[in-house]
Amino acid sequence: MPIDLHTHSSVSDGTQTPTELVRAAAAAGIDVIGLTDHDTTAGWDEAATAARECGIALVRGAELSTRTGWTSVHLLSYLHDPTDAALASALTLSRTARVRRAETIVDRLGRDFPLTWRDVSAQVAPGATVGRPHIADALVAVGAAPSRDAVFADILGDGSPYVVPFEMPTPREMIALVLAAGGVPVLAHPFAHLRGASLDAGQIAELAAVGLVGLEVDHRDHDERDRAALRDLARELDLVVTGSSDFHGTGKLNRLGENTTAPASLEAIAERGRLEVLR
Ligand code: AMP
Ligand code: FE
Ligand code: FE
Ligand code: ZN
Repeated sequence: MPIDLHTHSSVSDGTQTPTELVRAAAAAGIDVIGLTDHDTTAGWDEAATAARECGIALVRGAELSTRTGWTSVHLLSYLHDPTDAALASALTLSRTARVRRAETIVDRLGRDFPLTWRDVSAQVAPGATVGRPHIADALVAVGAAPSRDAVFADILGDGSPYVVPFEMPTPREMIALVLAAGGVPVLAHPFAHLRGASLDAGQIAELAAVGLVGLEVDHRDHDERDRAALRDLARELDLVVTGSSDFHGTGKLNRLGENTTAPASLEAIAERGRLEVLR
């Protein structure tokens, strides 16, 4: 029973609509799909309709942007109340800050590449959360780069002089917001060192002490050593272990179901969440 708890649609930086994503998951033999667009729940209703039609289960979630010092931390929230005012307003703030930050990045790129804001907005579905992948796609569209991946390897990677961060809550603040909204907080790809600085075991223990529920262990950005270390840490801190594809459609190499979550872990998440898993 393949369970894939972390995917993106065109409501953020995935390339498929929520309907296309859910259909692709069903076609790939996935039984339970988690939709976790960046800083938004706008795809939930469409995904729910598609999941019902395809006969697969849907876990409604989101991947929330947080930062502590210079370390960017992605926090998955599952099954939270999307109408919770405090959490919803934190997500709105992040999406707004992302637009301002993308404008700054485009201004900087415009000095060296034939790129305008109009090229970028052409890549963003109406109402979607803006991110670097959209800017990457725009660079590809204007002929300045061959692919999204190539852009991340070079022009828009972490540490690039074109890239600036946006304001976001700390992981601790976001965990409190998620818990208050009835959500289940799980750290996304905690040891994805390739993406820049990551949390250490001590920092993860501090988050466990304030209500973190799980660690995403099986993820393509973790090698075998990372996975073993995270599995030990999860056992030590009594955290739920998850795995996922972090699928983004054609925007990344990730295949649906390439990493999965055990049924017992899904159960542990479902019993803590305020919303139901839609089956
Ligand atoms: P942002 O949210 O604007 O900071 O952009 C980060 C997003 O870029 C992540 O959520 C990934 O989906 C995407 N990303 C990171 N590295 C790559 C890569 N090498 N190729 C394609 N997409 C990437
Ligand atoms: Fe993404
Ligand atoms: Fe992420
Ligand atoms: Zn993701």
